[in-house]
Amino acid sequence: SIPLGYFGGIGLASRNGILFKGGNYLDVMTKVDTVVMDKTGTLTKGVFQVQKVVSEGISEEELIKITASLESKSTHPIANAIVQFAKESYKNVSVENVEEISGHGLSGKIDGKNVLAGNAKLLQKFQIDYDKTIDSNPETIVVVAIENKYAGYFIIADEIKEDAKDAISRLHQMNIKTVMLSGDKQSIVDKISKELNIDSAFGNLLPENKVEKVQELKNQGRTIVFVGDGVNDAPVIALADAGIAMGGLGSDATIETADIVIQNDQPSKIATSIKVGKLTRKIVM
Ligand code: ADP
Ligand code: MG
Repeated sequence: SIPLGYFGGIGLASRNGILFKGGNYLDVMTKVDTVVMDKTGTLTKGVFQVQKVVSEGISEEELIKITASLESKSTHPIANAIVQFAKESYKNVSVENVEEISGHGLSGKIDGKNVLAGNAKLLQKFQIDYDKTIDSNPETIVVVAIENKYAGYFIIADEIKEDAKDAISRLHQMNIKTVMLSGDKQSIVDKISKELNIDSAFGNLLPENKVEKVQELKNQGRTIVFVGDGVNDAPVIALADAGIAMGGLGSDATIETADIVIQNDQPSKIATSIKVGKLTRKIVM
């Protein structure tokens, strides 16, 4: 038979659209028992669309303009959805001091007014009251406050990737535990993990909480592959035994830190990566 070896393994992976940055990661693939995944951009498309706008104490048009002005300074997929939705209405607006509040959203000065846009946790952090029905809504919601006053929200929808369910079932067939970690709220995380049959799923996580979760699993003696796409995912990718980045949607920092890159962003390639690792060892041994 043809000796596949490490070079062969890397080549086989590459023909499947998977870039291995070293032969040692093929070895890690033979030992993995737990695959931990980010939600947005990894299992879902990360292409959001605004479904509905609800304004409070301000016109809908004004809310859209102000929020889009702020979001125009962010590259988050949620931000893109709001900017697209607003069309050109946010042009000619003064935007100053925009800051990203990690895992929460954005703050900035729009036409001289202090604006916050992000998840409900962001408004809680600033002790601003908001419509509490948002908390039980199983969709992604961007809540807005203007001058410390609740001003309404955007309902935003993302879609599960076509092969996500198959991706999870292939991992289960290999006796691998699946875990999903997300900064999104628990109601969305529960809905998606149920739909995909994911073993355990945790929401409301800040980037540092994702690191803690992976460290916990490592302390239990598990061999972990982490799969993510965002800038926030770089620290967990570095901590995992092997880190996989989604290459199409992924940020440069994530792709750089990753040990393995899935070029077309298909989650089913996670199982393929593991299979290639196992196949390589069989031939090397
Ligand atoms: P995830 O990729 O798991 O959603 P992030 O850390 O990127 O995790 O974001 C966590 C949450 O913070 C998002 O789900 C969203 O609710 C909120 N968020 C982050 N960035 C923005 C933004 N630019 N505009 C509005 N909300 C945001
Ligand atoms: Mg993400």
